[in-house]
Amino acid sequence: TQQLVWPMAQFGQIINMYQRAEASAERIFGLMDETESLEDDSGTDDLVVDEGRVEYDDVSFSYDDENPVLADLDFTVEGGDTLALVGPTGAGKSTVLKLLLRLYDPDTGTIRIDGQDIAAVDRRSLRQAIGYVGQEPYLFYGTIRDNIAYGSFEATDADIRAAAEAAEAHDFIQNLPDGYETMVGERGVKLSGGQRQRIAIARAILEDPAILVLDEATSDVDTETEMLIQRSLDELTTDRTTFAIAHRLSTIKDADRIVVLEDGRIVERGTHDELLDADGLYAHLWGVQAGEIDSLPQAFID
Ligand code: ADP
Repeated sequence: TQQLVWPMAQFGQIINMYQRAEASAERIFGLMDETESLEDDSGTDDLVVDEGRVEYDDVSFSYDDENPVLADLDFTVEGGDTLALVGPTGAGKSTVLKLLLRLYDPDTGTIRIDGQDIAAVDRRSLRQAIGYVGQEPYLFYGTIRDNIAYGSFEATDADIRAAAEAAEAHDFIQNLPDGYETMVGERGVKLSGGQRQRIAIARAILEDPAILVLDEATSDVDTETEMLIQRSLDELTTDRTTFAIAHRLSTIKDADRIVVLEDGRIVERGTHDELLDADGLYAHLWGVQAGEIDSLPQAFID
């Protein structure tokens, strides 16, 4: 089974079930503003990342103290591994990541990075350790060069080019009227979704965070572009602890571990092969996306 092809008509139902209107990038960053006003009761010690091992220890959370959104979440991501979060819209995938970024604190339980309770370290040092590549990469009005260097003030032209090459972006950049000096963003040259994505990946490669949060794109890209994006993501996630919210299961089947969430609880976990064997929710989602079965059993939709 090579790359799967997703005819959109057949895919309609799964898109409906999976975050159709999911705009986690916006949500995550929108919430960042919201929570800057939260009293910062975090510690003053900087987070020290060594292996990048992330541990959720019995984490429960509710936004309103009434409706539990995450219940007794327990899992560990070993340093450098990729954990994929899968599940229907509203299952709590984004919330898992919001807690990691400390947009909110768990009601009970602890999240640790290399043994340090993230609630007890300086919040800025935590955010600096975590990179984010979302679905709607943000480009500001400026040159491609500055958009890649964003946040990495000491980057040289050679660093920027190396990052662009690793992100499979160098070739298309070179073909733009002014190469790396081409103005993009509002009023600038319009880039395709796949190109913006690769700029964002180049940016993350340059930032070199120990931990990476990926909210995989659903944008309609051709197979060639999808392959380029996948290759650049492989480059980015190697040796980096990665949390991936997966929309298309084909892109996460190589994840070291897949956690399937439903209503804020882990209902299944394992590798792709283990989960197929288990023949539960994941296997059914996979079957639908692979076109092996026409639709989800009713039990999974209600
Ligand atoms: P997923 O990413 O799997 O779609 P989310 O983590 O976004 O799920 O949402 C989990 C649940 O929390 C949903 O019921 C959602 O409506 C609720 N929720 C998400 N964000 C907020 C918020 N800021 N305030 C209140 N409820 C929220």
